[in-house]
Amino acid sequence: MGASERILGKALQDGYREKVFLVTKLPMFLVNKKEDFNRFFDAQLERLQTDYVDCYLFHGLSEGSFNKIEKFKFIEDMEREKTAGRIRHMGFSFHDTLPVFKKIVDYYDWDLTQIQYNYLDTTVQAGHEGLLYAAEKGIAVTVMEPLKGGMLANPPAEAREILDASPGKRSPVDWALQYLWNLPEVSVVLSGMSSMEQLEQNIESAEESGIGKLTTEENKTIESIISIYRERILVPCTACKYCMPCPVGVDIPGNFAIVNAANNKPANMMDRGLKLRNKLLYRRMAGSIDKVNKEVLNGKASLCIECGKCVPLCPQGIDIPEELKKVHQVMGKHRKPAEVFKKTQAEKL
Ligand code: SF4
Ligand code: SF4
Repeated sequence: MGASERILGKALQDGYREKVFLVTKLPMFLVNKKEDFNRFFDAQLERLQTDYVDCYLFHGLSEGSFNKIEKFKFIEDMEREKTAGRIRHMGFSFHDTLPVFKKIVDYYDWDLTQIQYNYLDTTVQAGHEGLLYAAEKGIAVTVMEPLKGGMLANPPAEAREILDASPGKRSPVDWALQYLWNLPEVSVVLSGMSSMEQLEQNIESAEESGIGKLTTEENKTIESIISIYRERILVPCTACKYCMPCPVGVDIPGNFAIVNAANNKPANMMDRGLKLRNKLLYRRMAGSIDKVNKEVLNGKASLCIECGKCVPLCPQGIDIPEELKKVHQVMGKHRKPAEVFKKTQAEKL
């Protein structure tokens, strides 16, 4: 958060600040007293080299962090800054259950909320019901994780075959983005991009987008691949890395990505090659603490000492140490994924 604000602050010089809608957020996991609001907000404006933000969010609200807003009366602080013109709109991002979401929505006259949503997560966290609930109250809804941490960009082989056979000829990323832009309740879709190519592809998709643009057939195509994903995703990790760093160096999202990829049913030679590559990737991860690369933390699932530090940090509610044990059973002991995972994570999707 701090580094990106500093980089953005530089990028917004020379007239760009006025061209953007600038949002940043109060890191709720770091605030512990009333004065923290000003301490963080002042430092953020300084890093961003601006006098105001267009929207300020309470970051990643859950029942626990929402209690801090009440306890420290942070709404007063937001309103004071709004009156002073340093905050234009007020909102919150969210990771908890639907009842908690509704409670927070009802607590204040918010301008904006940011939720995790995509075609696999319609019943996860705020979900579709939460999306409608907020939109009905006139709250702008921005969507994060539109590609579920990249999972929807790399469909399982059977799903890819169905998408490829559809007359629309869209890329998997385009399918996922159009699904969201199609919905009138979605105001903005936030898609993380790490290359110019991805940026250009997303712009191209956005130019084709519109409410109600997906046909009934196209919506059916999406429906038909959901069950395939549910069968294939063993751990619903979105690679957000909030759980990192692990004190003993386990690469938590890396291990989950490998086991999910290893559960993909190969449809062709290329898929078979990828499956072998995942086995190799796991073998190459550090199997003892002294071999962990301190810069990139490349430890295997088997290094987990079950300290529990990561568990409350995961917005997906994954029981990380338990799931890591299963990863090692599959990747290290070569047991069948279906036996080890018994679909418990898939049912949570
Ligand atoms: S529970 Fe395991 S994976 Fe999580 S922080 Fe502790 S050692 Fe690392
Ligand atoms: S916090 Fe949860 S979802 Fe995010 S990377 Fe860690 S395990 Fe995955």
